[in-house]
Amino acid sequence: KKKRGSCFLLFHDEMKTRLDRKRVIEDELFSGEFKNKGFSCVVQPQLDGKSGRLIGIETLSRWNHPELGILSPYEFIPIAEESGKIRELTIHLLNLVLAEGKRWAEKYGSLPRIAVNVTSHLLDDKRFYGTVMRMLRKWNIPPERFEIEITEWKEILSSDLVLSNLRKCRSQGITVAIDDFGTGFSGLSYLTNFPVDKIKIDQFFVSGIGMIGKSEAILKSIVSLAKGLDCSLIAEGVETEEQLRFLMEIGCRGVQGYYFDAPLAPAEFEKKYMPASLS
Ligand code: C2E
Ligand code: CA
Ligand code: CA
Ligand code: CA
Repeated sequence: KKKRGSCFLLFHDEMKTRLDRKRVIEDELFSGEFKNKGFSCVVQPQLDGKSGRLIGIETLSRWNHPELGILSPYEFIPIAEESGKIRELTIHLLNLVLAEGKRWAEKYGSLPRIAVNVTSHLLDDKRFYGTVMRMLRKWNIPPERFEIEITEWKEILSSDLVLSNLRKCRSQGITVAIDDFGTGFSGLSYLTNFPVDKIKIDQFFVSGIGMIGKSEAILKSIVSLAKGLDCSLIAEGVETEEQLRFLMEIGCRGVQGYYFDAPLAPAEFEKKYMPASLS
C-alpha cells in the first residue's frame, strides 16, 4: 500500500501476529481442565545400537490446539513455562504416559523405562519429588522404570532444592539424565556435584558426523567423559547409518532418532515393540 515505512509495518504486523498467537495459546492454557485441551503424548524408542534391544522411550508432548491446530512443543512449552502452567501440563502428560505404562505392564508383564522431559523450573519446587512419587504409585510404575530428562538447566545449578529433589529421586531408583548435553552451557564444573546417571548427547553433534571434523572430536571426548563419570550415554537425532556406525565405533551404544523411529503414538509403539526382550 504505502512505500514509506512499509518495513516498519511488516515488522509491526509480524510482531502483532506473534503476540496474538501467544495470547490465543495462553487463553487455552488457562481455560478449563487440561484433559479437555487436546494434549497428547508420543513416545520415541531408545535403543542399544549394537543389539537393537529397546532401552527405553522418551515421552514428547503434542498439542492439537482448538484454534491454531497442531503446535510444536518448541512453541508451547516456553509459553506454558512463562505463564506458570508447566507444572499442570507436565502432570497431565505424566497421567497420559504412565496410564499407558500401567496397561503395558499388566498386558505384557514388562515395561520399557519411560523418560519424561522436565524443565529446571519444576525441579526448583518443594513439591517435585512428592508429586513424582505419588504419580508413580498411582499408576503402579516401579521407579526403576522411570527417568527424568532435565532441559534448560543452566539456571538451576546453584539451587539446593534442585539437588535435594534429584538426590531423593535417585535414591528411589529413578534415572536422572542431562538433556542436550554439550550445548547452551559453558563449563563442566557442575558435573562434580550434580547427581546424574545419564548424558544425552545433543543432535547438533550427531548431525556433524562426517560433515564437521570437530564434531567427531567432541563426540569422542564426551564418550570418555561419560566413562570417567560412570554415566551412561545416549545420542539423539541419529538419522543415518554413517552416524550410527561412527557412534558404535567410539563406544556410544545408546541411540535414538529418525533412523530407527520417529516419535510414535503409544498404540503404534505398542504394536511394534511390545512385547519385546526388555532390559
Ligand atoms: P528434546 O527433548 O531435545 O527432544 C528431541 C526433539 O527432536 C523432539 O522434537 C523429537 O521429535 C526430535 N527428534 C527425534 N529424533 C530426531 C531425528 O532423528 N532428527 C531430528 N532432526 N529430530 C529428531 P519435539 O518433539 O518437537 O520436541 C521439541 C522439544 O520440546 C524437546 O526437545 C523438548 O525440549 C521439548 N518438549 C517436548 N515435549 C515436552 C514436554 O512434555 N515437557 C517439556 N518440558 N519439554 C518438552
Ligand atoms: Ca529430551
Ligand atoms: Ca534433547
Ligand atoms: Ca534438543
